[in-house]
Amino acid sequence: MQKLTLLGATGSIGASTLDVIQRHPERFSLWAVSAHRQLERLAEIITKYQPAVAVVADAAGADRLATLLAGVSHACLIRHGAEALCEIASAPQVDTVMAAIVGAAGLAPTLAAARAGKRVLLANKESLVMSGDILLEAVRSSGATLLPIDSEHNAVFQSLPDGFPHGLDGAGVRRILLTASGGPFRIAPLESLHAVTPEQAVAHPNWVMGRKISVDSATMMNKGLEVIEAHWLFGVGADRIDVVVHPQSVIHSMVEYADGSVIAQLGNPDMRTPIAHALAYPERIESGVASLDFMRLAGLCFEAPDLRRFPCLRLAYEALKAGGTASAILNAANEEAVAAFLDRRLGFTGIAHVVEACLDALGADAADCLDSVLAADARAREQATTLIAARMH
Ligand code: NAD
Ligand code: MG
Repeated sequence: MQKLTLLGATGSIGASTLDVIQRHPERFSLWAVSAHRQLERLAEIITKYQPAVAVVADAAGADRLATLLAGVSHACLIRHGAEALCEIASAPQVDTVMAAIVGAAGLAPTLAAARAGKRVLLANKESLVMSGDILLEAVRSSGATLLPIDSEHNAVFQSLPDGFPHGLDGAGVRRILLTASGGPFRIAPLESLHAVTPEQAVAHPNWVMGRKISVDSATMMNKGLEVIEAHWLFGVGADRIDVVVHPQSVIHSMVEYADGSVIAQLGNPDMRTPIAHALAYPERIESGVASLDFMRLAGLCFEAPDLRRFPCLRLAYEALKAGGTASAILNAANEEAVAAFLDRRLGFTGIAHVVEACLDALGADAADCLDSVLAADARAREQATTLIAARMH
């Protein structure tokens, strides 16, 4: 029986994870869950899955959750705050941690799980983007296992030889091809992009996801973050990670080998596939995802990403090449800009402008300790906030 902590239980990845584990009650049990503010949803999850511990944002949330759970027979310990998140991620009772909090808030608990030697299922790509070196060092020194949930990285992982113990060169890999849907504005007139609304931006053509990652998909910052994520997960330079726009989202990514072979992973666009893969790895289990119906696929198309349309993808490549804390600056500026866009305080095309201005204004330092990463994150948020306020006038 694998005992799990599910960080971000009320989110989109959280829901898909719960759906997979309820199909296999003999294999998985939920020991702890966390959520930020959606307490009604969290109370439903606790009632159904009966975890021993739940963590919410603050004391008021904990009181409210206790009220919602009054009369529920089983006892769930309710805790709150960032420290408690790290504790449920590293507790000795837990084998596996699903890191599915969105944004930089996921870094500390993900790192705690890695340091405690857990099997870490990584959906929270932002933590690798911010501090890839530190997170991987924690994995190495504790003997933790890091398995990618992001569909592209899970596809690459599945297309590589088992464990690829000798690195990508030893495995004869020429390059990694990350596929991208191109999001909702792939062919929208360029001059219409400045007027895009949050509702239009979060309406992704193929995937149902949280609001932040949906906006990232619309700007293609998501693919940029994924390039950086691939760099850390697979130990490969930016020059060997290519992005291919593939609007159908059927091929989830590919690996090209020295002999010209290309190995891809295909399937319906449903996150339950990578989640089930990582939960059961190296075995295979039912995920609830339907068979891919080849007879109904109209065709598979491919094109190069347009960096004029999607400047965020260029900025992410530049941050990866710059190294150090540049990726942490990119990530933090983007989080602030996306939040402002969703709040209607910033236009859609303003997101890339704010991120680029932050990268230009703030020099990157070495990202060798958590303090310097967190300092870069804080400086970038301050800079972005100032820029966003200035753009409003
Ligand atoms: P979501 O917005 O649907 O859910 C986010 C979860 O994090 C919620 O449970 C929320 O309560 C919690 N949360 C939010 N802010 C928090 C904070 N400050 N402190 C603690 N908890 C907080 O997001 P999602 O779409 O499920 O994405 C989660 C992560 O997985 C992101 O890093 C995203 O990039 C990654 N991811 C998602 C998908 C997808 O299909 N949704 C695919 C690949 C990767
Ligand atoms: Mg992805």
